Amino acid sequence: MKPDSLSIKTSARDEIVNITDQVQRAVAASGVKSGIVLVYSPHTTAGITIQENADPDVRADILAHLRELVPHSPKFRHREGNSDAHIKSALVGASQAIPVVDGRLLLGTWQAIFFCEFDGPRSRRVQVQVVGNI
Ligand code: ZN
Repeated sequence: MKPDSLSIKTSARDEIVNITDQVQRAVAASGVKSGIVLVYSPHTTAGITIQENADPDVRADILAHLRELVPHSPKFRHREGNSDAHIKSALVGASQAIPVVDGRLLLGTWQAIFFCEFDGPRSRRVQVQVVGNI
Protein backbone atom coordinates (compact mmCIF):
# COMPACT_ATOMS: atom_id res chain seq x y z
CA MET A 1 0.00 0.00 0.00
CA LYS A 2 1.31 3.46 -0.93
CA PRO A 3 1.97 5.80 2.03
CA ASP A 4 -0.30 8.78 2.59
CA SER A 5 1.45 12.11 2.31
CA LEU A 6 0.39 14.77 4.80
CA SER A 7 0.97 18.48 4.06
CA ILE A 8 2.20 20.62 6.92
CA LYS A 9 2.85 24.35 6.79
CA THR A 10 4.98 25.63 9.65
CA SER A 11 5.00 29.26 10.69
CA ALA A 12 8.14 29.69 12.80
CA ARG A 13 11.82 28.67 12.67
CA ASP A 14 11.14 26.03 15.29
CA GLU A 15 7.73 24.71 16.12
CA ILE A 16 6.03 21.53 17.35
CA VAL A 17 2.82 20.74 15.42
CA ASN A 18 0.21 18.19 16.55
CA ILE A 19 -0.50 15.84 13.60
CA THR A 20 -2.40 13.13 15.53
CA ASP A 21 -5.78 13.79 13.86
CA GLN A 22 -4.27 13.66 10.36
CA VAL A 23 -2.50 10.38 11.18
CA GLN A 24 -5.70 8.92 12.65
CA ARG A 25 -7.60 9.90 9.47
CA ALA A 26 -4.96 8.13 7.34
CA VAL A 27 -5.30 5.02 9.54
CA ALA A 28 -9.11 5.10 9.17
CA ALA A 29 -8.85 5.57 5.38
CA SER A 30 -6.51 2.57 5.10
CA GLY A 31 -9.13 0.27 6.59
CA VAL A 32 -6.45 -1.43 8.74
CA LYS A 33 -7.92 -2.65 12.04
CA SER A 34 -4.86 -4.31 13.55
CA GLY A 35 -1.26 -3.43 12.73
CA ILE A 36 1.21 -0.60 12.91
CA VAL A 37 1.54 2.87 11.44
CA LEU A 38 4.87 4.42 10.54
CA VAL A 39 4.94 8.23 10.65
CA TYR A 40 8.01 9.39 8.76
CA SER A 41 9.52 12.80 7.99
CA PRO A 42 11.60 12.81 4.77
CA HIS A 43 13.46 15.96 5.89
CA THR A 44 16.90 16.53 7.44
CA THR A 45 15.92 19.53 9.56
CA ALA A 46 12.68 18.25 11.09
CA GLY A 47 11.57 15.31 13.20
CA ILE A 48 8.68 13.28 14.56
CA THR A 49 8.06 12.74 18.25
CA ILE A 50 5.39 11.41 20.59
CA GLN A 51 4.90 13.65 23.57
CA GLU A 52 2.47 15.05 26.10
CA ASN A 53 -0.47 16.92 24.62
CA ALA A 54 -2.14 18.11 27.85
CA ASP A 55 0.11 21.02 28.81
CA PRO A 56 1.47 23.11 25.89
CA ASP A 57 4.29 24.26 28.21
CA VAL A 58 5.89 20.83 27.72
CA ARG A 59 6.32 21.58 24.00
CA ALA A 60 7.56 25.11 24.79
CA ASP A 61 10.08 23.68 27.29
CA ILE A 62 11.33 21.09 24.78
CA LEU A 63 11.92 23.78 22.13
CA ALA A 64 13.54 26.13 24.64
CA HIS A 65 15.86 23.40 25.92
CA LEU A 66 16.82 22.27 22.41
CA ARG A 67 17.65 25.92 21.56
CA GLU A 68 19.91 26.06 24.64
CA LEU A 69 21.47 22.69 23.89
CA VAL A 70 22.15 23.45 20.20
CA PRO A 71 22.17 27.22 19.57
CA HIS A 72 21.58 28.64 16.08
CA SER A 73 25.15 29.73 15.52
CA PRO A 74 27.48 30.60 12.63
CA LYS A 75 30.34 28.64 14.26
CA PHE A 76 29.36 25.31 12.65
CA ARG A 77 31.20 24.17 9.49
CA HIS A 78 28.09 23.43 7.35
CA ARG A 79 27.84 26.41 4.96
CA GLU A 80 24.05 26.44 4.80
CA GLY A 81 24.06 27.88 8.33
CA ASN A 82 21.43 25.52 9.72
CA SER A 83 23.54 22.88 11.45
CA ASP A 84 21.59 23.42 14.66
CA ALA A 85 18.46 22.26 12.81
CA HIS A 86 20.26 19.16 11.46
CA ILE A 87 21.51 18.28 14.96
CA LYS A 88 18.05 18.76 16.54
CA SER A 89 16.59 16.56 13.78
CA ALA A 90 19.20 13.89 14.57
CA LEU A 91 18.34 14.07 18.28
CA VAL A 92 14.56 13.84 17.81
CA GLY A 93 14.63 11.30 14.96
CA ALA A 94 12.78 11.12 11.65
CA SER A 95 10.01 8.65 12.50
CA GLN A 96 7.75 7.00 15.04
CA ALA A 97 5.88 3.70 14.83
CA ILE A 98 2.53 3.43 16.63
CA PRO A 99 0.42 0.30 17.14
CA VAL A 100 -3.06 0.27 15.57
CA VAL A 101 -5.77 -1.59 17.51
CA ASP A 102 -9.40 -1.73 16.39
CA GLY A 103 -8.59 0.86 13.72
CA ARG A 104 -7.34 3.40 16.29
CA LEU A 105 -3.90 4.67 17.24
CA LEU A 106 -2.80 3.05 20.49
CA LEU A 107 -1.63 6.22 22.23
CA GLY A 108 -1.51 6.85 25.97
CA THR A 109 -4.00 9.24 27.55
CA TRP A 110 -1.60 12.19 27.43
CA GLN A 111 0.24 11.31 24.23
CA ALA A 112 -0.01 12.88 20.78
CA ILE A 113 2.09 12.67 17.61
CA PHE A 114 4.02 15.83 16.75
CA PHE A 115 5.89 17.10 13.72
CA CYS A 116 8.96 19.05 14.90
CA GLU A 117 10.11 21.92 12.69
CA PHE A 118 13.68 23.12 13.26
CA ASP A 119 14.33 25.23 10.15
CA GLY A 120 11.04 26.85 9.21
CA PRO A 121 8.81 28.33 8.27
CA ARG A 122 8.39 25.85 5.42
CA SER A 123 5.96 23.58 3.61
CA ARG A 124 6.67 20.02 4.75
CA ARG A 125 5.50 16.49 3.99
CA VAL A 126 4.97 13.62 6.41
CA GLN A 127 4.61 10.07 5.06
CA VAL A 128 2.13 7.82 6.85
CA GLN A 129 2.45 4.10 6.06
CA VAL A 130 -0.15 1.79 7.61
CA VAL A 131 0.68 -1.93 7.69
CA GLY A 132 -1.61 -4.63 9.01
CA ASN A 133 -4.80 -6.60 8.63
CA ILE A 134 -8.05 -5.13 7.34
ZN1 ZN B 1 21.69 22.29 5.94
